[in-house]
Amino acid sequence: YEEKYEVQWGKLKAALDEENIEDFRFDFLDMHPYDQAMFFMDQPKENRLKVYAYLSPEEIAELVESMELEDTLEYFAEMDPRFASMALAEMAVDNSVDILNELDKEQVASFLTIMDKEAADEIKQLLHYEEKTAGSIMTTEFVALYLTQTAGEAMQELKAKAPDAETIYYLYILDDDKRLVGVLSIRDLIVADENALIEEIMSEKIVAVSVAKDQEDVAQMFRDYDFLALPVVDFQNHLLGIITVDDILDVMEEEASEDYSKLAAVSEVERTDDN
Ligand code: ATP
Ligand code: MG
Repeated sequence: YEEKYEVQWGKLKAALDEENIEDFRFDFLDMHPYDQAMFFMDQPKENRLKVYAYLSPEEIAELVESMELEDTLEYFAEMDPRFASMALAEMAVDNSVDILNELDKEQVASFLTIMDKEAADEIKQLLHYEEKTAGSIMTTEFVALYLTQTAGEAMQELKAKAPDAETIYYLYILDDDKRLVGVLSIRDLIVADENALIEEIMSEKIVAVSVAKDQEDVAQMFRDYDFLALPVVDFQNHLLGIITVDDILDVMEEEASEDYSKLAAVSEVERTDDN
């Protein structure tokens, strides 16, 4: 890996050493966020501080979102709080909630007070869900449509909402009480007649997850149904959020390493018994 990137890393490092913002941004932003993270995490603190100064909150958000959660905490601690809170506001809300859940209450409160109100409210809504439940891993950035819209109107609305949605692959249809009554894939919408009513083209057989469901059971549903996202509902079937498959991959990894630790503990006990 390092061999392939030796030249690129050398250039980036030189740009940081020379405090050449323009060259650094040009080469750094040209890389995939994962590759950006590999370089960034390899840097000493003095260089990381330069990176925070050379990138916008939005660019930092993208960089941080491609790292493991444990790694991000140290970096948030060394950023200027106002800058950090702007970066948190730019991230997908489920990801910023994951980070805030690792911090102590006072830190969270101070980040939220300096953040713009809209982003802070969205985060607060998600912060109170119990750990390891569907609610704690969902995001509220989904696209909802209404029964009485036509496919053409829905396409227009999708254009407006798509930039902020976590995924637009599935569109969820709500009734007037905001209850989940149907689902469409983007493919279903594209192939539909422009004048067809959403009500006529949607599927009413919906697989949904209860907000209190254990994340391990949610992972099992993803294995069973093969959807790229699942809707999360409360006990009155109101749509609260969605869980996307990339978040479930993190859950599967977490559960696998937990199982492994348990297994290791058991064999430890067995060995002690033998003696
Ligand atoms: P296809 O597989 O038929 O080509 P697709 O590739 O557009 O469809 P898939 O992800 O395979 O989409 O989903 C298949 C169908 O499942 C879509 O028509 C979609 O509306 C529907 N669907 C998506 N999410 C749910 C859900 N939570 N519950 C029930 N059906 C859903
Ligand atoms: Mg398919």
